[in-house]
Amino acid sequence: MTERADVLIIGGGIIGVCAAHYLAERGRQVTLVEQGEIASGSSYGNAGLIVPSHSTPLAAPGALASGLKWMLDPESPFYIKPRLDLDLFDWLLKFTAHCTDAHARRAIPLLRDLSLASADLFDELAALDFHFGYSRKGLLLVYKTEEGLKHAIDEARLLAECGVVSKTLNANDVCALEPTVQSGMAGALYFTRDAHLNPAEFVRGLAEWVGKKGVRIHANTTVTGIEKAGRRIETVKTTNGDFQPSEVVVAAGAWSPGLARALDLRLPIQPAKGYSVTVKRPASCPIISMILGESRVAVTPMDSAAGPILRFAGTLELAGMDLTINQRRVNAIRRAANHYLVGMSADGLETVEVWGGLRPCSPDGLPFIARPAPFDNLTVAAGHAMIGISLGPITGKLVAQMVCGEKTAVDVTPLRVERF
Ligand SMILES: Cc1cc2nc3c(=O)[nH]c(=O)nc-3n(C[C@H](O)[C@H](O)[C@H](O)COP(=O)(O)OP(=O)(O)OC[C@H]3O[C@@H](n4cnc5c(N)ncnc54)[C@H](O)[C@@H]3O)c2cc1C
Repeated sequence: MTERADVLIIGGGIIGVCAAHYLAERGRQVTLVEQGEIASGSSYGNAGLIVPSHSTPLAAPGALASGLKWMLDPESPFYIKPRLDLDLFDWLLKFTAHCTDAHARRAIPLLRDLSLASADLFDELAALDFHFGYSRKGLLLVYKTEEGLKHAIDEARLLAECGVVSKTLNANDVCALEPTVQSGMAGALYFTRDAHLNPAEFVRGLAEWVGKKGVRIHANTTVTGIEKAGRRIETVKTTNGDFQPSEVVVAAGAWSPGLARALDLRLPIQPAKGYSVTVKRPASCPIISMILGESRVAVTPMDSAAGPILRFAGTLELAGMDLTINQRRVNAIRRAANHYLVGMSADGLETVEVWGGLRPCSPDGLPFIARPAPFDNLTVAAGHAMIGISLGPITGKLVAQMVCGEKTAVDVTPLRVERF
């Protein structure tokens, strides 16, 4: 069976669902296919942070030095699985070339504009009639050591020059603001425009909302092939029939390079595995979300339909498309909280879920939001790395503007596929 479609979106994570929303708002007939359940990829169990504070790209000065130091520690927040993989090798070369001050200075203003525009769109989405635990209380970057705090203040200077400001708090200020932080910390940076949400409830809630507005959502439907004729994609083959769409949007996160390959397009995206541990909300639970600085663990208090929860998330493993869970690193994430927060002993926490997900990482820390030059009816929206939740709504809006031939809200030239 072959079905005609106006816009066909591949991928039911935050990027695909947000694109569906803004396309439907423009009156387009949207069909979305997702190989699992909606929000079953990276958009499911992540930390749910909306972070203009993270406008420094992953490829930044200092990233290489910290990476090499961490490689030697089996419980560290960063790991590359040694293997013979030409795509990984090529990606690492490109990543290394972008770890410069000049690249950071070019990338920060763009990521700042995208993040702030997206943060405003979350305010609008929060007015729709579904609940996703949206909370605008800011983000604390808490440091135990003077050295860690000093390093963070140095990094924040470049962000501040680009208009992303933070307040530096001493140990007393931190405890006064967030009494669940242990006394005796070196201090913290406080980013007041950051926010948090329950990511799975956001994506699933929005998918249900757009479904009611006419978007056709096919879960458990895997794209198995894409056929082109000249400059157009003609047929998208799936496990539940074929589609002949006018427009195709590839929003398949870490799986996007595999789909692009069918079109002879190279998308240098590496999957970077991270883990989260979700527990029932303990008696002593933070209200403000945090990053535990030295251990790079995010702590997010979340609302969920099943009751309040607290989520710890972290680790970045370049280990390929592999979702196996490394218990040692998960334990390290869990233990980190003991060193920063009160009342976090393991026996006081009731685990709800341990999860692993694949962040889709580009080598320069910028996503691909683009109409690839060889095609007239293809849009790619992938490669959002650590900030795909933050950038979900603005990406969806940009995709809709590009598909509809409108002027984009932000200049997307630096996000084109051909930049590598
Ligand atoms: C531990 C961890 C913590 C994180 N914390 C944060 C955070 O606090 N803030 C933030 O902004 N970001 C965070 N991220 C990053 C964020 O989760 C990702 O950037 C974002 O979810 C990417 O969204 P996506 O829609 O591109 O990909 P995904 O959510 O992975 O969605 C892609 C979808 O495409 C589907 N798909 C793939 N292939 C096919 C096919 N052939 N046919 C049909 N469907 C297909 C997949 O099943 C998947 O559901 C975190 C990530 C991790 C791992």
